[in-house]
This record gives sequence, C-alpha cells and structure tokens, in this order.
Amino acid sequence: MTVHTRTALVIGGGVAGPVVATALRRAGVEATVYEAYDSAADGVGGGLSIAPNGQDALDAIGLGDVVREVGRPLAGTVLRSWKGAVLGEISVPPGLPELRFVWRAELSRGLRDAAAGHGVRTVYGKRLERIEQDGERVTAHFADGTSASADVLVGADGIRSTVRRLIDPAAPRPEYAGLLGFAAPVADTGMASTGRRLNISYGRRASCGYLVYDDSSGGWFMNLPHREPMTVAQARAVGTDQWLRTLREAVADDRSAAPELLRRTDPADLLITGPLETLSTVPTWSRGRVVLVGDAVHATSPSAGQGASLAFESAVQLARCLRDLPYAEAFVAYEGLRRERVERIIAAAARTNRNKANASARIVRDVLLPITMRIAMKMLRPGKMTWQFDHHIDWDAPVPGTVPVRAGGA
Ligand SMILES: Cc1cc2nc3c(=O)[nH]c(=O)nc-3n(C[C@H](O)[C@H](O)[C@H](O)COP(=O)(O)OP(=O)(O)OC[C@H]3O[C@@H](n4cnc5c(N)ncnc54)[C@H](O)[C@@H]3O)c2cc1C
Repeated sequence: MTVHTRTALVIGGGVAGPVVATALRRAGVEATVYEAYDSAADGVGGGLSIAPNGQDALDAIGLGDVVREVGRPLAGTVLRSWKGAVLGEISVPPGLPELRFVWRAELSRGLRDAAAGHGVRTVYGKRLERIEQDGERVTAHFADGTSASADVLVGADGIRSTVRRLIDPAAPRPEYAGLLGFAAPVADTGMASTGRRLNISYGRRASCGYLVYDDSSGGWFMNLPHREPMTVAQARAVGTDQWLRTLREAVADDRSAAPELLRRTDPADLLITGPLETLSTVPTWSRGRVVLVGDAVHATSPSAGQGASLAFESAVQLARCLRDLPYAEAFVAYEGLRRERVERIIAAAARTNRNKANASARIVRDVLLPITMRIAMKMLRPGKMTWQFDHHIDWDAPVPGTVPVRAGGA
C-alpha cells in the first residue's frame, strides 16, 4: 500500500475532531488533536440526536459503541401544538437502527476517551491562531506561542472556525438565528414515559423538545426567541435562576408538558447552550495542505437533527480519501463525495426552519400553525427522509481518483 500522508494536525477536540483523528489513525496517518480549551467538553452543549447514518459512520471505524453507551434509543419524534394536540409523527424508516439521544458533553467525552484508546493524543490549551504552509509541511501556530507541524491540517474547530477564515478570509460568517438554546435533565418529571419518542411542542412563544423515560426521569431543550444576539458567556452571566423564570413565563400559557417540566427543573441543572447560528454554503473546503470537516464546513441548523451525524460521515470519508490518494487529490475526492449531500440536508433543514419560524410568529400561530405543520410533515414523511438515514460508508472500499464537485448542491 502506498502511504501518501503520514501525519496530521487536527484542530478542535469537540465532536468531529476525535472522530477524524481516530479514522486517520485507522488509515495509517498519525493524527494529534489540538483543542483550545483545557477540557473540551465539560458542561458544553445540550442534547442532540445521532441519526442511523451517523451511527453507521462511527461503526465504520469501530466507534459506534460510544453512542450506544451514552445514548438513549429514540424510535421517532412526535410534533405537538401548544394545546398538546398531536400534529404528526416522524419515525425512523424500517430496517434502520433507532436514533440515539445524547448529551453533547457526554458524547464529546466518550469520543475523546475512545480516540485515546485508539492511540490518539489530545493536547489541551492550544488555540490555533495562524497557519503557515509550503511544499513540504503545514505548521499551526498557537496562542501560547508554541507550534506544531505535519503533512496536513484538518480544521475541526466548529461553526466559528478559525481555520475556515484562515484559508478563505471571505468565507461566510455564522448568522444569529434569533434564538437562544437551553436544556436540562429532570430527575423526576412526574410524567408517563414518552415511549422512546422525542416530543416537540410548538408553544405560543417558544418550542420545547422533551423526553420522559420509563423511570419517569427525562430531559428537555428549548429554543427561546431573543432579538438581541448574545454570546454563551453573556447568556451565562444572566444566571440560571433568571433564565428559568424567563423560560417558565414563555411556556406559561401552553397546554403542553413544558410548564410542568420547567417547574420541576433544578436551576443548578440548567444548561445554557447559547445562540443558535446558521452558516450558508462554504465555497472553499480546502487550500493547499489544509482541509475542513464538521461544523467548520457544513453547520446544519439544529432542526436537521443531523449536525453531528454529518460531521461523523465527513470525518470518515476524509480519512478514506487520505488513505488512498495524495492529499491534493484526496481533498478534491472528499469534497466530491460530501458537498452535494450536506448541502441538500442543509437546504431541507432551512425549509423546515422557515416553517417553524412561521409557526412561532404571533400573527399566524393559531390559524396557520396546523397548515404550516402539515406542510412540514409532508416534507418529513418517513419515505422522504430515507435518503438521509440510510447512507452507508464502506470503509474498505478503495476511493477512486477525482470525483467531480457540484458546488451549490441539489
Ligand atoms: C442547540 C443545538 C442542538 C443541536 N442538535 C443536534 C441534533 O439533534 N443532532 C445533531 O446531529 N446535531 C445537533 N447539533 C449540532 C452538533 O452539536 C454539531 O453539529 C456538532 O457538535 C459538530 O461538531 P464539531 O466537532 O464540528 O464542532 P464543535 O462541537 O463545535 O467542536 C469544535 C471544537 O473546536 C474547538 N476550537 C474552536 N476554535 C479553536 C481554535 N482556534 N483552536 C483550537 N480549538 C478550537 C472548540 O473548543 C470545540 O471543542 C446541535 C447544535 C446545537 C447548538
């Protein structure tokens, strides 16, 4: 086997970083992760779901057990009005594994531990500031004055990616979606089990997703409309007691499970996940020896339920390409394998978001909500979702040379 790439620097140890590093090691590339924070995951982020396609990608490199260990199975999603009425239900297509609900902090920690088990070294406190590259190497310069060099550099540094800006100063910036995210586990909901179904209630002022397990414990997340953008730090400075009061007021008139779940939430358990942001199409996926993966290059809105799953797919496909091709060809093949699919999912999520935004608008909420939700349900019919969920990666299949890139997607 010809070895094309021997070493890689992976910038970012969130979710995509440990996966791409593990996949690279399996591909024979020695990868080291450089994470800006001292401890990448602790307490960061709320709940998210891992779709069957994301589990398939992790299984391709032997990391699927991480999600099965930290995740709770989810057979589908029930959409409800603020009156509690069922508007529709989305189920995983038959023959595919159930979705898994995970707390992002647990997922990130599990992936980092598993990556370490595969020989991946993670170095903390390394905030990338600058990149230099020539015909031989790429060098990352960190804020603490240190640097590291390798054959290639993978930017897995999230939606506010520094690597993306460094390879294309004109790259799009994330845009605030007008919503702040919150989540919390609830030790005792006092409610009946939701039967492995995520319920999403489209409230009069805010939407709330929740799960109740068989032992009556559970968890919820909320997207609160908030005109002024706030950083996570600014939102956290407001304090959990104040936010919990605001969230309780936002759902006070809803005839859903949300008011009771929030009443039973301990302020100490409230996770303030910060502003929801969107990112439009990223024109430049790689430059020279540098390439992007995960939210850095394709951040879907949370309503897609696909952000982490697509990050896993891209991480594994990038590693296959670097295993089989010289880096320049590998980056072209990687983009060719990925761009159309991720942009199609991002576009589908944007359409669902517009329906949700309309559903939350005061003027339309009572009259138009059932209509907009029927339209959303048509778009989310199981048959229509299969192409997202049944994506399969054959790790052992050789990657053919250059696959044409279709910028702009479907
Ligand atoms: C409210 C919410 C709900 C979501 N729900 C879902 C869902 O249901 N399903 C789903 O699949 N996805 C969901 N997502 C998206 C999912 O969280 C992301 O798509 C996923 O975490 C992508 O991982 P990543 O590693 O690319 O980025 P991140 O997880 O953001 O990790 C980036 C890492 O890079 C580090 N970093 C940043 N800058 C630097 C630097 N300069 N130098 C070094 N390190 C740096 C950061 O500290 C971080 O650890 C949701 C997101 C949000 C906000």
